[in-house]
Amino acid sequence: MNFSLSESQLLIQKTVRDFAQNELAPIAADLDKEARFPHEIIKQMAELDLFALPYSEEYGGTGDGCLPYVVAVEEISRACASTGITYAAHCSIGTDPIYLFGTEKQKQKWVGPCARGEMLAAFGLTEPNAGSDAGGTKTTAVLKNSEWLINGSKCFITNATHAGVIVISAVTEPGQGTKGISSFIVPRDTAGFSVSEPYDKLGLKASDTAELYFDDMRLPEDNLLGKRGEGFKQLLKVLDGGRISIGALALGIAQASFDAALAYARERRQFGQPISKFQAIQFKLADMATSIEMARMAVYRAAWLKDQGRATTRESSMAKLYASETAVKAALEAIQIFGGYGYMKEYPVERYLRDAKLMEIGEGTSEIQRLVIARQLGC
Ligand SMILES: Cc1cc2nc3c(=O)[nH]c(=O)nc-3n(C[C@H](O)[C@H](O)[C@H](O)COP(=O)(O)OP(=O)(O)OC[C@H]3O[C@@H](n4cnc5c(N)ncnc54)[C@H](O)[C@@H]3O)c2cc1C
Repeated sequence: MNFSLSESQLLIQKTVRDFAQNELAPIAADLDKEARFPHEIIKQMAELDLFALPYSEEYGGTGDGCLPYVVAVEEISRACASTGITYAAHCSIGTDPIYLFGTEKQKQKWVGPCARGEMLAAFGLTEPNAGSDAGGTKTTAVLKNSEWLINGSKCFITNATHAGVIVISAVTEPGQGTKGISSFIVPRDTAGFSVSEPYDKLGLKASDTAELYFDDMRLPEDNLLGKRGEGFKQLLKVLDGGRISIGALALGIAQASFDAALAYARERRQFGQPISKFQAIQFKLADMATSIEMARMAVYRAAWLKDQGRATTRESSMAKLYASETAVKAALEAIQIFGGYGYMKEYPVERYLRDAKLMEIGEGTSEIQRLVIARQLGC
């Protein structure tokens, strides 16, 4: 059992940390305030090869794998969770479905540009009436004259406005439940495809979330991803990976909350001494640090298992559940340690709380993670 990152993984961690702390952290509050998508940062991340980390060299990747990618998501999210979710959604749910289930031609066409950061990717699963119950998809795809005719809509889709390619789910075999769902690759410029104005959200305000509309959208027959009727099976596998990413995102927010709280507790003086000298504050910091370390072990272990080609359904859900609840608690405790100042926009901890809350909702709520874990336990 080896709990250390390798030399090359440590180098990736240091490179991303330096970039994130020097270039991204100083502008994160403004990005949030202005709800401004971080185009310039995405370009710099592409130059650093961050989008290439999870993919093999034959498809434009660096071949580093899931663990270094997860370390990068953590460091980016520690500086700015809006950029973190943009990155995580692009790789783990946008590009991964094509990387995992695409034909050679589809992989060559789409994974390369995504791995090089030349275009962003998105994943359209959620619908107004199919959220936790993703099998309740209403969007339909009918094959006519070698073309798919697609009608329906998706909601809450990350990167929707800026993605060059979007993987979506649709019903191809009505009446067959989850066995009637298939996946499709939708290029941005497809006729009949449109995107709403971005949502005005509680947090992650610099990330892009919008609705997708398919209005008699026509796709070539070979834009089907994998086999017909296997879309639901595919998306479960994609979410196994996506949940590790959300765990890493949550970990970054939790670490940022702890960093801010510790620094403030050492500086802020009351009753003639720094508040870090009060046991009540020390215990909060000790609990935060302990949970963050446990969350990190769970997230890194799930990523390591994925790199070994092993099943991670249980470990992904546990990591996502624990890390996201750790992030919310850490952000709340950070606000408490900041006192009244924590409630003000002048300090970053209120942003951490707003951003952290999504971790308990996206890619399966905490309730759904507990259902998945219980099922894995044989309940
Ligand atoms: C900012 C943001 C970004 C997102 N990005 C994407 C994206 O890129 N792609 C995408 O496809 N989706 C995306 N989503 C959607 C997200 O995955 C869903 O919001 C989430 O899965 C929950 O679905 P819902 O919102 O319909 O809630 P619902 O499913 O309606 O759930 C409502 C409540 O009921 C609970 N509940 C539901 N079923 C059960 C059950 N069986 N047992 C116990 N409790 C249950 C839930 O836990 C929750 O508390 C995003 C959402 C947000 C807010």
